[in-house]
Amino acid sequence: MEVFTEEKCCKYCEEKIEICISEGLECTECRKQVHLKCLKRGSVPGGLYGDVFFSLTCQECSTDEMELFTRMKLSWLQVIVLVLFHLQNKSPGLARKGFFHWRHHVAKFIDKNWEIIFTSDVKRKKKWTGTIAGTLSHFSNYIFLSGTSVVNETAFWTLMYPKLTPFAISSIYSVMAVEKQQLKNKKEKVSSDADLFNNTIFTCMKNVDLLQIFSSVQIVSDVKEDSNNTIIDMECNQKDLKPKNSKRISVQPQFETSSKKMMKLVSSTAAFSNDLATNFKPLDQPEKTDDIISNATKEDITVKEFVKLLDPFCHYNTSLNNISRMKGLTLHAKLTGGIRPELILSPYSEIYLKPYIRRDTETFPVWLKLMAEVQLAGNKNDKQYHLPPRGPIDYTYIQPQHIPAINSICNQFFWPGIDLTETLQYPDFSCVVLYKRLIIGFAFLVPDVNYTENYLSFIFTRPYWRNCGIAKFMIYHLIQTSLGRDITVHVSINNPALLLYQKFGFKVENVVLGFYDKYLRSDVNDSKDAFFCRLER
Ligand SMILES: [Zn+2]
Ligand SMILES: [Zn+2]
Repeated sequence: MEVFTEEKCCKYCEEKIEICISEGLECTECRKQVHLKCLKRGSVPGGLYGDVFFSLTCQECSTDEMELFTRMKLSWLQVIVLVLFHLQNKSPGLARKGFFHWRHHVAKFIDKNWEIIFTSDVKRKKKWTGTIAGTLSHFSNYIFLSGTSVVNETAFWTLMYPKLTPFAISSIYSVMAVEKQQLKNKKEKVSSDADLFNNTIFTCMKNVDLLQIFSSVQIVSDVKEDSNNTIIDMECNQKDLKPKNSKRISVQPQFETSSKKMMKLVSSTAAFSNDLATNFKPLDQPEKTDDIISNATKEDITVKEFVKLLDPFCHYNTSLNNISRMKGLTLHAKLTGGIRPELILSPYSEIYLKPYIRRDTETFPVWLKLMAEVQLAGNKNDKQYHLPPRGPIDYTYIQPQHIPAINSICNQFFWPGIDLTETLQYPDFSCVVLYKRLIIGFAFLVPDVNYTENYLSFIFTRPYWRNCGIAKFMIYHLIQTSLGRDITVHVSINNPALLLYQKFGFKVENVVLGFYDKYLRSDVNDSKDAFFCRLER
């Protein structure tokens, strides 16, 4: 209990050390404490937020005047709490409504920071990621909170008490374990761990402000705002659908809607204003919370494949089969994703990225010209009529709210089963292009495919938005982000995009016969053989 009551002051600044407010490390020699923020080194090794799980030899006590840190042995519970606490404070943009994916965010982060968290003496056990899923479920509803019970998100987790630091949670847990043992020794009835833990929190933590339970209200309202948007009425309907209740119905081109399949699709996606929140489920993954562990293997496979599955510039036609495959999503989720104005913290480089890469007000793509003509024709009797101003084309980094739309485009234009959620791990190497909230293009690099090389995995521009420099700028941007590294790409041998790559200096290294065998649909004319091209740096 003493960690909660004992009054200690920082050896360096002489101010109070307080749990959850201003935590510190204790020197193993002089037994005095030092604030994390007062460490001469600037931060603990690894820089994890709230990480006090080191034993310290302070500057004065150390023989060479250098602070010395030794990692304590951490339990999986401590590690997961630490990682969620760090992500929640340092990479909030990665979360989906405040929740993090146990594999794509938590396990990935641990894997990347393994030496810091466990030291290099500890080796990964075969099923270590399964342990993460198991630990999350075991402590669910009092230390961790599953996304399912709150916002219908499976495999997503957060901390029940977001303001309690990893040190506080870990101390409360050990107090609880001791009390539980004492009760057992006295042969008294022991209540559930969850009840014991909650009671212990209230006896230990005197400051009730810190005991706020996670609430997703704030974050959910952000998403709701997205759903009241206005682009649906014209830009998105390229040639497939006629929206209901459109105010601009008079300027709509008259699309054919006679096909049965189309009619069915219209009715199933009629609710344009549906809350997006209910439609964020990944396409081909009807997961249930209980089987997160068994799903691990399945997900493993998708992630590995994604790194291999590559296809640049597929300019394929949309087929109805592909559209109907997506009918489970609202049209809205399929097409849109806005830009949040705040900076995005990259989990890869740990630097803040600007919300916009570029804002282009000049370019006038074919689709917008077409729409302008339709509007003018529709209003030709109105002498006062002026075209409404057109919006800019915005280039931005990938953000969580883009993922459903991008996955859906990939499933439609490339092949089924693509999930680009992983790109949120390295947003530095992405470029997403929006007109208002319509996604019109995107491009992704996979960083570090080997020491000197980044790989261009997907690049796409919507039909009718092509040939006006969008892909060119995306490639240019990605080249800028991988200074000092080669960029490689596979491109189908009869794909005209090769010329664009060559303009940037890419050189054909070899030909890979049958590269697209598994992926291209038989109705696509592109060659299944690919050039492997490299831009040398
Ligand atoms: Zn201090
Ligand atoms: Zn000391």
